[in-house]
Amino acid sequence: MDILIVGAGVGGLALANGLVADGHHVRVLERADAPRTDGAAVTIFSNGAAAAAGLGVSLDDLGGAIDTLGFFDAGGHAFAHADLTLLRRWTGYRVATIPRATLLQRLAAGLPADAVDYGRQVRTVETAGSGAAVVTADGVREEAALVVGADGVRSAVRRALLGSADPSYNGWVSWQGLTATMPELAAGAYARCIVGDAGLCGLMPAGGGLVQWWFDVDGPAPAGRPVIGWLRERFRSYADPVRKLLDVLTEADVHAFRHAVHPIPDRWGTDGATLLGDAAHAFPPSQAQGANQALEDAWMLRRALSSASTVSDALRGYERVRARRVRRISSLAASEITNRPPAPAARLAGRLMGPSLFTRLQLMTIRRCSSVLNGDRI
Ligand SMILES: Cc1cc2nc3c(=O)[nH]c(=O)nc-3n(C[C@H](O)[C@H](O)[C@H](O)COP(=O)(O)OP(=O)(O)OC[C@H]3O[C@@H](n4cnc5c(N)ncnc54)[C@H](O)[C@@H]3O)c2cc1C
Repeated sequence: MDILIVGAGVGGLALANGLVADGHHVRVLERADAPRTDGAAVTIFSNGAAAAAGLGVSLDDLGGAIDTLGFFDAGGHAFAHADLTLLRRWTGYRVATIPRATLLQRLAAGLPADAVDYGRQVRTVETAGSGAAVVTADGVREEAALVVGADGVRSAVRRALLGSADPSYNGWVSWQGLTATMPELAAGAYARCIVGDAGLCGLMPAGGGLVQWWFDVDGPAPAGRPVIGWLRERFRSYADPVRKLLDVLTEADVHAFRHAVHPIPDRWGTDGATLLGDAAHAFPPSQAQGANQALEDAWMLRRALSSASTVSDALRGYERVRARRVRRISSLAASEITNRPPAPAARLAGRLMGPSLFTRLQLMTIRRCSSVLNGDRI
């Protein structure tokens, strides 16, 4: 088939790999003029790595492997540990934090040289009969047997297909980046989430001597004053390494990402058009599953296309399966439960449980939102 994918992000490129391997003629239309190099890093859990492998792309050697994830209070006292080597043992795939540019580079590397068309902004999508067509910002109309909107959180394709406006925002904001100034944290496979009344600070080794850091805060920075000064003041009672991190960051390092949430309907498209990834179901990064779910969508859509008798049956089947899985993780992420200080009983439970049981609970959460780990079919 002739297939058009809108957006060369994590989900669009991943899908292109699977569809090219199945012999389809695939073109990816990307509005940016070149591959993205910003966007800090994303943590790819075992389900995302399994989905990528199922699409023919190994992520095994990228970024920084995370073997242990420790949860601390603001004073630096640990209240839970997850042993992520168990996730690797149980699923066959590790957990790693990977710079976004590195991930996109890997996803693009196996595609035909002309598969991604940069500098092509899609304005809208038209559907009729069995196929679909895109119209670009400069008025060019291109037809295909299938159009997939993988154009992210403010998707033009979603607007055309579902008629719905941009997502809502739940009030939380992330500031995120990569730093080369913490070699002692970068060298290990130990990640930290430090949570208190001011919000959460996360620190993850991301490979290549880099540490991915982020702050999740309930509410925007006050207008008219430097964000870094405000973050330092807000998190001043947090123990090291939070204070040490804030000492080295500058105003140029901090960029705000508001936490967006889409309603997730049963149907994501009509005729020969559908959505994938954030375009279908943007949700906050607090469960670190957005990119993982985009990879899961790509895995499921490829599987649906290779088993259904018509494109339309494949798309509607894919949407039904994925909507059911993604709703669960979306509402958990939107609750921001991991960004709030746990109640004393939850802290005690975390300590008593031990890493093995705590990791088992994490695996249950991941399994519930995973098509690839459950072998879903339409
Ligand atoms: C602060 C923060 C931290 C995060 N951390 C994690 C994490 O640790 N783990 C995780 O799994 N997820 C994480 N996420 C979520 C993750 O980044 C997204 O869920 C993921 O990138 C979605 O992939 P996608 O392919 O759907 O969209 P994107 O990766 O956003 O790609 C969309 C692409 O479409 C292009 N595009 C947009 N509009 C058009 C148009 N009209 N025409 C053509 N092209 C267009 C864009 O330029 C872009 O290249 C985080 C998100 C944020 C904001």
